[in-house]
Amino acid sequence: MAEKSLCLLGSTGSIGTNTLDVVARHPGRFRVHALAAHGSVEALAEQIERYRPRLAVLYDEEAAERLRARRPGNGATAIRAGMEGLLEAVGAPEVDQVVSGMVGAIGLRPTYAAIEGGKQVAIANKETLVLAGELMVSKAAETGSRLLPMDSEHNAVFQCLAGQIGNGSGPAPGAGAAPRGNGRAGLERIVLTASGGPFRDWPLERFGEITLDQALAHPNWKMGPKITIDSATMMNKGLEVIEARWLFGLPPSRIRVLIHRQSIVHSLVEFTDGSVIAQLGLPDMRTPIAYCLGYPERLALDLPRLNLAEVGRLDFEDVSPDKYGCLYLALEALELGGGAPAALNGANEAVVGAYLKGAFAFAEIHRILSRVMGRLRGALAPRRDGGAPSWLGAVRSVDDAIAADRWGRDCAATEMP
Ligand code: MG
Repeated sequence: MAEKSLCLLGSTGSIGTNTLDVVARHPGRFRVHALAAHGSVEALAEQIERYRPRLAVLYDEEAAERLRARRPGNGATAIRAGMEGLLEAVGAPEVDQVVSGMVGAIGLRPTYAAIEGGKQVAIANKETLVLAGELMVSKAAETGSRLLPMDSEHNAVFQCLAGQIGNGSGPAPGAGAAPRGNGRAGLERIVLTASGGPFRDWPLERFGEITLDQALAHPNWKMGPKITIDSATMMNKGLEVIEARWLFGLPPSRIRVLIHRQSIVHSLVEFTDGSVIAQLGLPDMRTPIAYCLGYPERLALDLPRLNLAEVGRLDFEDVSPDKYGCLYLALEALELGGGAPAALNGANEAVVGAYLKGAFAFAEIHRILSRVMGRLRGALAPRRDGGAPSWLGAVRSVDDAIAADRWGRDCAATEMP
């Protein structure tokens, strides 16, 4: 296989560092063309020393200035800043695959640009599909860009479907006929598993006592603080249903969520003959990352192996709507359509951000977001005066998605104590 040239958006975050770990395990297979991060000067400088990219970007202009002053890699790496820098990184003609792993709405525009450029795009940034899923997959179908799901659940579904993705995005490079057998043809339903987070065994009555440290202690996965809180509320799973809706082109009624506390079964696919295929493995992000990086080949990974005899048992249970109200808010937003998922996501980002700073108790997250959903419902209700702004009704551009996201943030700000 020829050397694949990579552009990493979010290189200093958990997706980025795990991606670079996989890259380092496969010398000669990958060339790191560009590394981009938000503002971590120290971490990016170290990555530049080690991976010698042609281009490095910090979104934060002032941080980029500090990075430049350090001349990492003896100045052989060009250092850029801002959105312009991110767009330059993804747009480089040498780049074969873009790993979209930036947290938040910042990643949206560069990811869209990568799709417009017909690149392979490994999607780990949820916002891409939550804010503008329909737009992204229709653009991918147009340009032949291949969208590879890096999120563990979606990657599991992707593997169960033998790498065939049913959203109309471009064909596998060099692939001839569509895969047969367990491809998309007989697909009936997908089942996304959820660990249930740290409070799955807590009675609802005790949710008022939850501390920030407890919420940040995920039982199975090590991730950044924002997504860890989203896992505790299960907003994360709601956003993943939205992602799956677009990635696999399935109506929400054919996507189910199941609590599976061991995080060994990463998701399942049910076919029209009743067969169910699951992907299993130890919870380690490097597995889905390697599957995307190597695609369409499978890369070897020398990591601890799953020992089912040691795991002993696999438990599954339905989701309790009382404990995980945020999941249902996301499902409702998906049902409302248009800019509603983007608005809810923006609101959630603002609310979780404030929660992480200690602004209010854990149980408030759902209460505040419920009020935001109420306002969203009101804004989208048919009215004689024309009602909602057009971008709330339909997301036709990245700007529309960002406007809807902004609406959600502003709305949340007025609802927060
Ligand atoms: Mg996930």
